[in-house]
Amino acid sequence: MVRKEIWKNGRLKNQPSISQKTEYKEIWKNVLTFLERDLSKGEIATFLGSTELINLHEGKARILCPNRLTMEKLRTRYAAHLAEAFQTVCGGEHQFSFEIKPLENTIPTDSRTASQPSLFHHAPPNGLAASYSFENFVVGLSNQLAVSVARAAVEQPGALHNPLFIYSGVGLGKTHLLHAVGNSVREKTPNARIIYASAERFTSEFIRSIQSQQTAATFRRKFRGVDVLLIDDVQFFASRTASQEEFFNTFNELFLAGKQVVLAADRHPAEFKNIEQRLVSRFAGGMITDIQEPDLDMRLQILRNKAAAQQAEVSEDVLLALAQQLEGSIRQLEGTLHQLLAISQAQKSPPTEELLKAVLRTAPPTSTFIAPQDIISSVCRAYQITSEQLCSANRSREVVLPRQIAAYLLRQISRASLHQIGGFLGGKDHSTILYGLGKIEKQLISDQILKNQVESIRGEILGKNR
Ligand code: ADP
Ligand code: MG
Repeated sequence: MVRKEIWKNGRLKNQPSISQKTEYKEIWKNVLTFLERDLSKGEIATFLGSTELINLHEGKARILCPNRLTMEKLRTRYAAHLAEAFQTVCGGEHQFSFEIKPLENTIPTDSRTASQPSLFHHAPPNGLAASYSFENFVVGLSNQLAVSVARAAVEQPGALHNPLFIYSGVGLGKTHLLHAVGNSVREKTPNARIIYASAERFTSEFIRSIQSQQTAATFRRKFRGVDVLLIDDVQFFASRTASQEEFFNTFNELFLAGKQVVLAADRHPAEFKNIEQRLVSRFAGGMITDIQEPDLDMRLQILRNKAAAQQAEVSEDVLLALAQQLEGSIRQLEGTLHQLLAISQAQKSPPTEELLKAVLRTAPPTSTFIAPQDIISSVCRAYQITSEQLCSANRSREVVLPRQIAAYLLRQISRASLHQIGGFLGGKDHSTILYGLGKIEKQLISDQILKNQVESIRGEILGKNR
């Protein structure tokens, strides 16, 4: 008999058994963990944090979404990621159906269960991801100064280090630290108004806001009315004159009012190109600190913590082997551990050194691991478009060319599959990607200017990640 499930009073009738529910939860947790390989934690918290797997039967997965926006994003942007994640975690191909969660019409009677944190908290509009805290940030020689000044900024916002500017190569913990500052201030002062936004988000919101006086005013109120402003990936402001200007004014207003500003970027302010001098000197007016690559002990400690957080039993030998193999980016270190655990779980065999070797073979260890997002951001920066535009369905030449270049570089640098590239670029079909790659490869042979452009973007990506 086909089991029918219907919604009634906000509850699912014929609910799965408790053990099934636990199993779905576990699978979903592993899927989200796997996704951390390709997606940022912020992205996962925003779009997947409050989703649930509610049924999985014969390759059909039903996923519950909190609202329509999330549902659309999952359907379009993350479909390929989900397919890959389910493939790894459960094996085989899956079909997905998405549903919007009906509004609860009863107030939970047990306040303890109501307030229990989920794996990822709902991402509130302030942009903070609760999973990034000081507690789960390992401190070592390479980041101790950054951590201590960040903590000081939490203790006395606006008073000691303002602005606080943190810079480092990719995957070394800047974003984590910014969120940790925000979460920590919020814990201390629940009423504090805090916003975390990447410079890219600031820019795209700003551009959207200038369409009417009313939205422009809302934008200003939002960013100028905070107690703590955390802006990530500040290098994105390069060459974007209008949003730089807006940010300059926002910064000045907050600074004069004694509000704390914390900034992160991929380089020292002195190395910024195409960012106005007056803004650079504002950045340099406070405290500048960097984060270096972690040493072996620190890498090992991070792996231990990560494994423990997932309640996974991994021998010290395996963790050490992994820590020795991968230097540099902590993101890559984590990603490889996640992959190892996901595969070990799928194959129901312990995470041995043998399995680790197999994982490392499929993702060759390079100290220059480059996240797909970094490639996409570099291309967007070069062509002055946002990654939202790049990943949209827009087919105008201004967007199609950068999209094809991004696909080309994703293919060349990360050796991603067509399917994966399609996923990174907003859920495009693999045949679309193949067509675009063919076009760009042909063009590169005949068009020297384009070739120079692409080489300079490649140089920027590789140089940044050295
Ligand atoms: P960045 O912004 O510098 O590129 P992220 O903050 O995104 O780097 O860090 C990449 C990943 O590594 C994140 O998942 C983060 O939680 C983790 N990470 C980085 N530094 C540490 C650390 N010191 N302790 C624990 N996890 C870390
Ligand atoms: Mg970052």
